[in-house]
Formats: sequence, structure tokens, C-alpha cells
Amino acid sequence: MEPTNKEVSNCVVCDSPVSGKELEDSLKKHAFHVCYKCQRKATQKIDEYKYKINSPTEIQALLYYALLDRNIDAEFEYSDGKKSVDIAILPSKIYIEIDGMYHTHAEQILRDFQREYYSFKNGYLTLHILNKTLQEHFRSVVKAIKEIAKMGSNLKNDKDGTNDDSGH
Ligand SMILES: [Zn+2]
Repeated sequence: MEPTNKEVSNCVVCDSPVSGKELEDSLKKHAFHVCYKCQRKATQKIDEYKYKINSPTEIQALLYYALLDRNIDAEFEYSDGKKSVDIAILPSKIYIEIDGMYHTHAEQILRDFQREYYSFKNGYLTLHILNKTLQEHFRSVVKAIKEIAKMGSNLKNDKDGTNDDSGH
């Protein structure tokens, strides 16, 4: 049997072919295609964090596995001692937060700023991605994060050896 392009797609996480019932089931949950294996891994991952008040979402777990699959050194639900972030890419000093919606209330905006200012002072940048953007453009987002992660680690490497802040 020769499958047509319509019936076969590739998993956005691991790139393996997805077809038939697997594809159907995936489309019931997401706007993109995920194989059973990655779907299962994501479900297991979020199960580990059920106890948390802001428990992680499935798409967060899928993004995490997609990054790992692309050899990006990602951490899931990373805690820096003060707060926990959805995903962290420590070698590039990047935090990723997946937001359900834009924060429009003044208190939320202020809280986000305070949270992130602390990280920023420690050299960490926070990347906000809307859940909706991930649903609609999963692959492009992963690609963009990969670029950003590379940029981040280059920046870090550039700094190595140049110690201009010698006052301490
Ligand atoms: Zn997969």
C-alpha cells in the first residue's frame, strides 16, 4: 500500500510517520500531529506534576520533548529557588513560559515583571509563547527556540574569557 500525503504526516516531536487512527486521535486533541509514543510520554510527564497548583500542560510537555529531540538541553518545570518556569534551557540562560492568554491586568503585568526582573538580573531571559501560537505553529516555534538557544549559548561563549567586570 502506498500512502498518500493526505494520510501520512510526521510527528512534530520525534518526526516519525503518523497515520491512520494515530493521526485521527492526534487531531482530536491538537492542531498538529503527534505519534502515540510522544503523546504517551507527554501524558506521563504531566502526571508526575499533578500535585502542583499550576500543573503543567500537555503542550508544554510536547514542546519539552521536541526540544530534547533536537538536542536542546531543556529542563521541565525548572525551579531556580525562587520560582518555577515551564521550560528552561540553562546553557543558553533562557526560560520559556507558555501562557494561556496575554496578561492584560495591571497586577498580572507587574507580577510577571517582578518575577522576570530577578531572573534577568541573573542573566536569564524569559520567552513568552502563547498556547495558541504553539497549537498553530508548533514546528516553527520549535525552530525559533532552537535558533534562540544557539544564540544564547554563543553569547555565553563570547563572554567567556573576557572579564571586564573585575571590580570584585
Ligand atoms: Zn513522536
